[in-house]
This record gives sequence, C-alpha cells and structure tokens, in this order.
Amino acid sequence: MKIRENIAIAELTTMRLGGAARYVIDIEEDKDLAEAYKFAREQNLPTYILGGGSNVIGRDGGFNGAVLVNKLRGIYVIDSDEQSIRLCAKSGELLDDLVEYSVKLWNGESYGYSGIEALSKIPGTVGAMPVQNVGAYGQETKQVLHAVCVYDYQDNCFKHMMADELDLGYRHSVFNSGDGVGRYFISSVTLELNKTWLQPPFYTSLQTYLDEREITNFTPQVIRDAVAEIRASKLPNPAKEASAGSFFKNVYLDEAKAAEAAAKGIPVWEGGKIPSGWLIENAGLKGKEFYGMRVSDKAALVLINDHAASYADLAKARQAVIDAVEAKFGYRLEQEPMELGDA
Ligand SMILES: Cc1cc2nc3c(=O)[nH]c(=O)nc-3n(C[C@H](O)[C@H](O)[C@H](O)COP(=O)(O)OP(=O)(O)OC[C@H]3O[C@@H](n4cnc5c(N)ncnc54)[C@H](O)[C@@H]3O)c2cc1C
Repeated sequence: MKIRENIAIAELTTMRLGGAARYVIDIEEDKDLAEAYKFAREQNLPTYILGGGSNVIGRDGGFNGAVLVNKLRGIYVIDSDEQSIRLCAKSGELLDDLVEYSVKLWNGESYGYSGIEALSKIPGTVGAMPVQNVGAYGQETKQVLHAVCVYDYQDNCFKHMMADELDLGYRHSVFNSGDGVGRYFISSVTLELNKTWLQPPFYTSLQTYLDEREITNFTPQVIRDAVAEIRASKLPNPAKEASAGSFFKNVYLDEAKAAEAAAKGIPVWEGGKIPSGWLIENAGLKGKEFYGMRVSDKAALVLINDHAASYADLAKARQAVIDAVEAKFGYRLEQEPMELGDA
C-alpha cells in the first residue's frame, strides 16, 4: 500500500480538473483495503474510491480525505461448461484489457466468448462496470454480471453480492445510490460470457458499419474491431483530449410524454429514450465553446476540456448547455459523471 500526499485530483481524472486530495492511497492487494480504511478512520477523514477517473470530475476545493486508487490486478477463469464461461477479474484491471482477454480465449471450437465485446475501448477499470451499469453499442454490464466481491466499509469485511442484489439499471446501481454510495469497494467482478455470437439487429451505428462492409461473421473479435473503429472516429481519446465521455444522461420519458415528443419530430428510442446528444446538437450547440469547455463536434454528448481553468468554468459551461436545451425542447439534462471534492 502506497500513500502519497497532496495530489491534484486533476492528475487522477480524465477531465483533468480539481484541486488537491490530502491523501492518495494505492490499493495493490485486497489486504490493503482494511489498512487504508483504518488509516482514514483514525484521522477521521472521508474516503473516495477511484478507478481510472474517467467518470469523475474533480472540484476546485480539493478533497480533505483519502482517495483509494484501485490497482488490484488479475483475471481468472473460474468455471466453464459447453456453452459459457465464468471469468473473475480483479477490479483494478482495465475494462478494455478484460474485453481483449475474453475475445481471444479459446472456447473449444473457435476463439472468443461473447458478452462484453461491444464494451471495447471504454476507458476505466472493471470495478466501475457495476457502479453505473456501464454499457455501449447494445451491451450492458447487467446482461453478463454474475456477482461481485466487495469490501464493506460499514461492516469492515469482505462480502459476496449476487448481480440481482445490485439494482442495476440505466447508469444506476446500489453503488451510486442511497446508503450504498462509498460503502462498498468492489474488489472483483465475476462475469458469465457465452460461446454464442451476437446476432443482428445490432445497435444502429454498429449495424451500419457492418452492412457497409458486408460483414456477416460476427465473431467477438470482429465486433470488438468494429466498435473500436466507430469509437475512434467520434469519441475523444482520453490521452489526447480531456473529457469524461458522455457528460449528460439520456432523457427517459413515460409513454404519454414519449408520444408527445415523437409527434414534435424528436427521436424517441426503445423504452422512451431520447438521445441527449440529439437534443444538444439540435439546440445548435455542436462544436460550440463555453468557458474553455467545448461541445464535441463529433459527439455532442461529450464536453471536452480544451482550456477550462477550473471546475467553476465547467459548471458555467454545463449550465449554458442545460439552459439552451431546456429553452429549445423543455427537457432538463442531468449530468452523468460523479464529482469529487469541495466546490
Ligand atoms: C472518452 C470516454 C468514453 C466513454 N464511453 C463510455 C461508454 O461508452 N459507456 C459508459 O458506460 N461509460 C463511458 N465512459 C465513462 C467511463 O469510462 C465509465 O463510466 C467507466 O466505467 C469508469 O471507470 P473508471 O475506472 O474510470 O471509474 P472512475 O471514474 O474512477 O469512478 C467512477 C465511479 O465509480 C466508483 N468506483 C470506481 N471503482 C470502484 C470500485 N472498485 N468499487 C466501488 N466503486 C468504484 C467511483 O467512486 C466513482 O463514483 C466514457 C468515458 C470517456 C472519458
């Protein structure tokens, strides 16, 4: 366990904003967890769990507490039968490395297991997957999650939680709502993946990509490569451009309101979903810059930090986007990433 002092949250998060955290503790083995929480408790300091920092925005006032940075590593096959396999991954593994591992694994007949190939190239760690039920291109964590192992900060012990105890929904779980916030450090994740390949119809942009290239062999590797290329063409590379990916959640409407929206020509997808990117683009904001933050000209849902000086700049830019969308369409957008620190 390594403890560092006064580290800028900006250095730990892909939006690259935020003041100093008093302590940053690297969690390298499961046994570090009890020690790290004891350290924080003894000093009466709050704690915050961080993976790759790709869905967390640092605030200007910094964090007078201990940030626990997840460095737990390891991927293991724990069970398999004719059709499926169970993989257990320590939560500090990169999600994209786990996807790479799963699409290359021999399944007895060919290479690759299906279930997370469409989650290729999502930044961040495996441990964050259940927190907001990470999903993309038609796949989501909920479809493959079997169980998690957590360290429960309240009861000071490791626990096993099955997927159906986690209340997984759109960008939602017990880990980011109610009493569960900050209570559980997810130490490992067990996924159940299948030998059977994905079949059409695929998520619209993925289907278009496959149709244009006349691809009909939907191996997990083929889908991974397709998703990687689609993402590279429109989403910022965190190594080059600072962002937290989708900055706003999509809007979900009940049946009556969805029908009203559709009658006005607003696209309503399955489950009453209105893509917030469409709202932002059609409010005329694509490519616009506010206080050093730019609405991506390729994916309007993404806010890129070109040269914002502070969280305060981001907050003003966020408000400008929310106000413009509300004025044009009457929907109030909600932020997706979490926040760390004092304003
Ligand atoms: C360019 C870009 C594209 C993106 N595309 C997508 C996408 O397609 N789909 C999608 O869903 N997301 C996407 N994201 C958002 C982000 O990558 C995911 O939410 C990712 O799962 C966050 O992982 P992380 O390790 O960086 O988590 P962090 O940002 O470090 O943490 C996120 C939250 O999870 C909590 N947390 C993290 N690890 C643990 C743990 N081990 N135990 C308990 N709590 C934990 C944190 O406290 C925090 O509240 C994108 C982000 C970027 C920058």
